[in-house]
Amino acid sequence: GRPIDDVAREFGLAPATIVKIASNENPLGCSPKVSQALTALASGVNLYPDFDCYELTHALAAANGVEPAQVLPAAGSSEIIQLVARAFLEPGRAAIIPQYSFQAYIGAAMSVGAQGLFVPAQDFAVDLDALLDAVTERTTVLFLASPNNPTGTLIAPDALDRFVDALPEHVLLVIDDAYCEYVEPALRFDSVAALRRRRNLLVMRTFSKIHGLAGLRVGYALGDPDLLGVLRRLQVPFSVSAAAQVAAVAALADTAFAERSRIENAQERARLALELTRRDIAFLPSAGNFLLLHVGAGAELADRLMRQGVIVRPVDGYGLQEWLRVSIGLPAETDRFLAALDEVHAAARQ
Ligand code: PLP
Repeated sequence: GRPIDDVAREFGLAPATIVKIASNENPLGCSPKVSQALTALASGVNLYPDFDCYELTHALAAANGVEPAQVLPAAGSSEIIQLVARAFLEPGRAAIIPQYSFQAYIGAAMSVGAQGLFVPAQDFAVDLDALLDAVTERTTVLFLASPNNPTGTLIAPDALDRFVDALPEHVLLVIDDAYCEYVEPALRFDSVAALRRRRNLLVMRTFSKIHGLAGLRVGYALGDPDLLGVLRRLQVPFSVSAAAQVAAVAALADTAFAERSRIENAQERARLALELTRRDIAFLPSAGNFLLLHVGAGAELADRLMRQGVIVRPVDGYGLQEWLRVSIGLPAETDRFLAALDEVHAAARQ
């Protein structure tokens, strides 16, 4: 989604009046403990960050029940996607990418001259059998997100478990857990348990979503120490800033904030779903912090809403011209979106 200031400049709007529900950010902000940690850091920003991210790595290892050597902090999962491409893809090799999945996967594959092979979805959900059928000798990486962005769809944990075991070992399976914390605990896939069964597996997580640190750029990979070693060698030195490191440690410790974020997201997602149903607008069932709405001309509607100061995400770049992705915001933000939507529809009827 476009930055608020950018939209404010273009349309002559006051930034404070703009609502941005376009990038699946946490509308609650971040934990107050993060703010405290950042304030405490301020007097030390003349110093380089800890190269090894010692505290963050150990905190992540403890939180996930793995060894520190199985953890690699990075500048968001975006950095990890790039590292994977540079380490395991090149011309003549292919990455398998489910249709309607995060655009950075194909971008990373193309940036190193590898093939990105889209595998058609089935009813907008990932088709696991088709993914398996698409594997060839040349396939070195397979990206898989659950919940998936931009659809919000969830792969059933038992089906994903079977997939982890069925995928040929020569393929690096990259499980993108960006939205995993939003999933109701009973339905959550245990990607750490999968790491114990499959060596050629990388789990990516981010602090950009439920932890509310998108602006700081911090995420991490979990995986085999040798595999992570390959990625680590390709990292830009100090790619995880000191601010990102202290903020992530503080965010991880505030489990109550993450839990509140999950619960409030689920409540507001249900309320938005109800309001859409009332308006006869279809949407996909979502386990994430966003809904994908069937609206007709998505980009056109996004533009109309933007003129009213409501930024949402057109998804025509994903081949979803008739859809619009709306992040779950605060109740007042949802209301602003709905009011703007009603206004656009009322104007269209005149
Ligand atoms: N993976 C998915 C599925 C995403 O939707 C996003 C961001 O929207 C990311 C990864 C990238 O997140 P980060 O901010 O950690 O780079």
